[in-house]
Amino acid sequence: MRPTHLFMTGDTKNAVIIVAAGSGSRARSGAEDLPKQYRLIGGQPVLWHTLQAFALHPEIGRIVLVVAAGAETRAGEIVCALPGSPDVTIVPGGATRQASVLAGLAALEETPPECVLIHDGARPFVTAKTISDVLDPVDQDTAAIAAWPVSDTIKQGSEDGITGTVPRHDKWLAQTPQGFAFASILAAHRHAAPGSVTDDAMLAEEAGMRVSLIPSPRDNIKITTAEDFVLAEKLLGSASETRIGMGYDIHAFEDGEAVILCGITIPYKKKLKGHSDADAGLHALTDAILGALSEGDIGAHFPPSDPQWKDCPSDIFLRHAASLVARRGGTISNLDLTLICEAPKIGPHRKAMQKNIAEICSIEPGRVAVKATTHEKLGTLGRGEGIAAQAVASIRLPLEGSQ
Ligand code: MG
Repeated sequence: MRPTHLFMTGDTKNAVIIVAAGSGSRARSGAEDLPKQYRLIGGQPVLWHTLQAFALHPEIGRIVLVVAAGAETRAGEIVCALPGSPDVTIVPGGATRQASVLAGLAALEETPPECVLIHDGARPFVTAKTISDVLDPVDQDTAAIAAWPVSDTIKQGSEDGITGTVPRHDKWLAQTPQGFAFASILAAHRHAAPGSVTDDAMLAEEAGMRVSLIPSPRDNIKITTAEDFVLAEKLLGSASETRIGMGYDIHAFEDGEAVILCGITIPYKKKLKGHSDADAGLHALTDAILGALSEGDIGAHFPPSDPQWKDCPSDIFLRHAASLVARRGGTISNLDLTLICEAPKIGPHRKAMQKNIAEICSIEPGRVAVKATTHEKLGTLGRGEGIAAQAVASIRLPLEGSQ
């Protein structure tokens, strides 16, 4: 089983604009002063969840991410952590949502797609089915939006009392994505008065286009308030399962000047013997993640008989395993590694190892543990003949049917 699909080959006729330029002040509270799209749910930024839904979708070829001016670096880090190296262009937005959408459309104008979806960056629970369903009816004369048919009775009035009951049978709550013929929505945006619309479908309606309502799950919420973050964690938890995997590796010493462990070079009188760089720590972690995924082992993905992996740095293996988790819409909850050897000393390098593993897997360092123990002079490890590593990985994967 070789690593495949390392680069996304989406349908280039469809693009999506993800609007994430807001300051999100309604969701801010206490020490957590980040705009809502950058706050974490399930250990990853809201925006990562949103982006990965489109990055993994086979009918989406390009993503334009509109962010507040000055937020490009932060957004770029999130994009780098996406599975499959999707084609993402980051552009600065405007003062209003409408201006930001127009900036996104302008970024696509040079090589225009046939169809463009417009989606809120703070709507991370969009499913692959909703994306497909919204794309399906879009043509030159027809737009389509995800929407939820209202199920509660709608009352009109104020705190002073009810003034009427509104028939609900034809009422829908508009969501995103909203899909349009690219040329039509660009023209509509260019003709619109500044700041006059709250969603893009309004412009299509005003232009006389037919706009289809596509029933979409109620879970496709826009995270707006602090309470929404609590709900988002619940939704993530109920739609996913925790999986555990373990990995073990051992490499013998041979003559050399340094060992490489967890990607860190440690000067020593010997080196580890192996086909790749013999990094037992990263190999054990790779196998732990592959184990949690039930996707074979490191040897099946990177056969030692294949000359291309000779002397190869082992971060490639771990990065691949982490990308398989992301490709399945999952996240790595934590990694726990124990290195077993008499020497060299691991302690002085522990922090650097933890940081390096976190970077390779695009997770926070607090989700990575690196521990070390000797073998109490017992057996081969005790005689200092090599280094062994044990790892446990905990990952969260979406339950089938929740995507
Ligand atoms: Mg190995």
